[in-house]
Amino acid sequence: MPAIGSKRPSKASKVAKEVALQDPLTALPGIGPTSAARLQALGLSRVEDLLFHLPSRYQDRRFLTALASLQAGMETAVLAEVVAMERLPGRRPQWRFSLRDGTGSLAVRFFHLTPYQRQQWRIGRRFWCFGEVRAGQGSWEMIHPEWESADRPDFRPPEHLTPFYPSTAGIHQQQWRRFLQMALALLPSLEDPLAPLLPGWLPLSECLRQIHQGTESSPEHVLPYRRRLALEELLAHHLALRRARQQNAPLLQRPRPVCDHLWQKLLRTLPFQPTPAQERVIAEIVADLGKEQPMRRLLQGDVGSGKTLVAVATILHAVAMGMQVALMAPTEILAKQLQEQLEKWLRPLSVAVGSLTGSLASRERQAVLGALATGELAVLCGTQALFQEGVTFAHLGLVIIDEQHRFGVDQRRKLLEKGRLPHLLVMTATPIPRSLAMTLHADLDLSIIDALPPGRQPIETLVLSDHRRVELIERLRGLLQQGRQIYWVCPLIEESELLALQAAEASFRQLQEALPEFPIALIHGRQRVDQKNQSMEAFRRGDVQILVATTVIEVGVDVPNASVMVIENAERLGLAQLHQLRGRVGRGTAQSLCLLLYRGPLSVKARERLQIMRDSQDGFVIARKDLEMRGPGEFLGIRQSGEFSFRVADLLRDEDLLALLPDLASALERQPKARDVVLERWLGKRLQGYGAIG
Ligand code: ADP
Ligand code: MG
Repeated sequence: MPAIGSKRPSKASKVAKEVALQDPLTALPGIGPTSAARLQALGLSRVEDLLFHLPSRYQDRRFLTALASLQAGMETAVLAEVVAMERLPGRRPQWRFSLRDGTGSLAVRFFHLTPYQRQQWRIGRRFWCFGEVRAGQGSWEMIHPEWESADRPDFRPPEHLTPFYPSTAGIHQQQWRRFLQMALALLPSLEDPLAPLLPGWLPLSECLRQIHQGTESSPEHVLPYRRRLALEELLAHHLALRRARQQNAPLLQRPRPVCDHLWQKLLRTLPFQPTPAQERVIAEIVADLGKEQPMRRLLQGDVGSGKTLVAVATILHAVAMGMQVALMAPTEILAKQLQEQLEKWLRPLSVAVGSLTGSLASRERQAVLGALATGELAVLCGTQALFQEGVTFAHLGLVIIDEQHRFGVDQRRKLLEKGRLPHLLVMTATPIPRSLAMTLHADLDLSIIDALPPGRQPIETLVLSDHRRVELIERLRGLLQQGRQIYWVCPLIEESELLALQAAEASFRQLQEALPEFPIALIHGRQRVDQKNQSMEAFRRGDVQILVATTVIEVGVDVPNASVMVIENAERLGLAQLHQLRGRVGRGTAQSLCLLLYRGPLSVKARERLQIMRDSQDGFVIARKDLEMRGPGEFLGIRQSGEFSFRVADLLRDEDLLALLPDLASALERQPKARDVVLERWLGKRLQGYGAIG
């Protein structure tokens, strides 16, 4: 067992002399090819990378608990003397040691000890142990605590918080701490190109030391150090995007005259007028289509703001100008829905729309691919299947990506490579302020739909205990009799699709029994795609009035007549997800209703989340509250899902840092070597994905 409190100065100083931060991890003693491969899977390949692998939490092991004060469930450190030992019979030998400290007693049990370790555990020796206390036979017990001999002259109990690292199978926490101890010995040689540009900020090495050594008295105090890293990470991202933009700048195409006759034709048959906000962004986009530099534009608009119509306008201009269009969505359901909406609008204009998804039968696939290669097919909707090998466009001129936060930069790039300098429009509902969006998407121009279509009524949101389920179902009967359609969502709970499915099936049966006169369908992630599509289609046509679903319907689904949404276990969902889900209703002109069902007792935070949902419908407000509610300790080293996966930075929390980026980036661009240090450190291999597109 490695010593926890002691510093092992000999090994660390040896490392400091013989190893460089840029060396492969195997340069460190104790990291062989097997561990190196495991670390590689976490994206760590050089010694320096260890320094940027941050703890996800800390444990406080500084204080000892007297054995008389132990309680079941406590995680704590103790220091006591071995008074008895016992080898427990069984197929594999177990060891049980009785410890005393003058106040009480504790048993410590091990399922395996190496002969060397076994040697150390003798009667009369004193040990420091850290572990969870449980009730054992006749006394408190710790099973496999972390331990070390308290008799060694260099023994010291931990002075600082003990870090815990995000890990992978085969690398345990003590190894992480040992690796980091060695890497930290190399801190003096860490390059810090930002230091001269950031007067008043602590040097990078100091921040890393504080974070890894848990020097502060509580996790909250680590935050200022973390921000220094967040700044550098955000800067790396910003630099990469600026570089992509610069590399793209000279890639020009022949400018073509803008041609709007198809769009004008559609406008004459459209049942509604585009809103002024839609008209404005359409004008911005269309102007791009006529330029010699390919469009790189982000369209942002809250859920339900009408991004699809903007996409249609873009497509019709592009097609009229002789381009082929690819439209990519993150799920098959969405791709299918887009295709249907487009067909409805484009077929009368004699514009052919096809679709390509993973589940397409091979014969149909061949037909689609054929028509695409000849140029017969003007518009192709689909999932990731669009950028697979074997998909060849005759003249792909425009790529549109819906719900782009679900895709990575490299996927976007792969699709663009199917054409020669195609235009790019990416669409997102992620609500971020303009200045933030411009820094984050430094490679894109920005258009924002800032108003919802008219006639929308606010969604009435009610929070209900699950006890009132039966009563609720009775109320739904009245709404169903008026012809309303209802989503009943059973969200993914604790990452278990199976549990979500069971919950959805149970609710499905209950609703079927209680409301037998109304057509109902069940849709979930384990169904075949064509089954899902069939149910979705029936719901869209109105043949199904109640759609029971797991969260497969979360993004983008658009059925305007569906005006009631019930969300089970709403207390378990985050605000962003609740907002996305609720955005499925309130799309028509009918007064919509969202019922958030919860199972008590509610935690303080869950109650607050549900209240926020009840009180606000504004994506910006909800995102902001979401930020305010996340507690300390939740933000260290946590990966974010979505369009950017930052290791340290948190877009909302670190928003104020974004303002610093443009100037820092300009300064670093004048020092290419320094810039490359930052890019390589934070992006490494991911840098390719940010490259120029052409
Ligand atoms: P999102 O921005 O979330 O993708 P959609 O494009 O799905 O939103 O649009 C939401 C709903 O609003 C759709 O039913 C669409 O037909 C409708 N809609 C879009 N634009 C207008 C408009 N200008 N007037 C009235 N309804 C509109
Ligand atoms: Mg949409």
